[in-house]
Amino acid sequence: NNKILEIDDLVIEFRTDDGVVKAVNNINLSLDRGKTIGIVGETGAGKTTMALSILNLIPKPPGKIIQGSINLDGIDILKKTERELEKIRGRIVSMIFQDPMTALNPVITVGEQIAEVISIHQRIGSKKAMKKAEEMLEMVGIPRERISEYPHQFSGGMKQRVIIAIALACSPRLLIADEPTTALDVTIQAQVLKLMKELKEKLKMSMIMITHDLGIVAQVCDEVAIMYAGKIIEKGNLRDVFENPKHPYTEGLFNSIPNIDNRKVMLKPIRGLMPDPCNLPKGCSFCDRCDYALEKCANEKPKKISFSHTHFVECHLYEVEKDYKLKYIYNRE
Ligand code: SF4
Repeated sequence: NNKILEIDDLVIEFRTDDGVVKAVNNINLSLDRGKTIGIVGETGAGKTTMALSILNLIPKPPGKIIQGSINLDGIDILKKTERELEKIRGRIVSMIFQDPMTALNPVITVGEQIAEVISIHQRIGSKKAMKKAEEMLEMVGIPRERISEYPHQFSGGMKQRVIIAIALACSPRLLIADEPTTALDVTIQAQVLKLMKELKEKLKMSMIMITHDLGIVAQVCDEVAIMYAGKIIEKGNLRDVFENPKHPYTEGLFNSIPNIDNRKVMLKPIRGLMPDPCNLPKGCSFCDRCDYALEKCANEKPKKISFSHTHFVECHLYEVEKDYKLKYIYNRE
């Protein structure tokens, strides 16, 4: 099987004081081995919930997986016991979180923190694990002499390198990175992204990069999925989505980033806010913010429309004609 990951019709709900939130809403997603996919969307779009479900780490309660399946490297993740999952996490899938400042234990040396993960998963003695920790530190660009230092002796970028070393210590086949560079300065951000890209190639991993930044997607991803209100509303390879964005929300994301080649173009932020997740509209969730909305958009959920075997969108605009949006813009002007 060439797929490292296959998510099929996944629905995840959370019970809150305000009602039931459908955080992940009938998601289908697959990823080929060796590829990187960017999952893009605003805070609250369901990106992290979807990612956590791949490790079967949704807190239950308040979370509940209502339906669907997740196949990771041939393993039916949602049917595994917690004991079985412990062996899968780290070795088959690993995750890096946003804030390196809180992810490390301040009173344990970085070497011990990397070695601990290695000895748990690989069942090797502490001396051997420490040796491997040194190699991991070097692999992420930190001199091995720093193995006995504590997290406070490292800068933010260096701490994130240590986190990457921990995540990769057991050679996972899939690495999930949740906004891994958001807390870092821009120059450091670029170095960390470059490192991740190099390591992904070297270790022949697949990667899921969760971000709200299309610039990061352009740098490291092969494919991109745009999420909105718990759904993937457009997906394609990098070229499909960057050169030919189809969904009005995707178009809005591109219009809200500066274009240095043409500074006369005014930025056009997407108006309004994401709908209340406890009270999603009956039809398209983007309806209240969409400049192209048709009458049926308020009442009917859009279905998946394919433009090629790699590129699809969920939007009523293309149900009748695939160039509908172009025509609409032309007529309006
Ligand atoms: Fe806009 Fe309708 Fe498409 Fe939703 S389905 S994005 S409201 S045109």
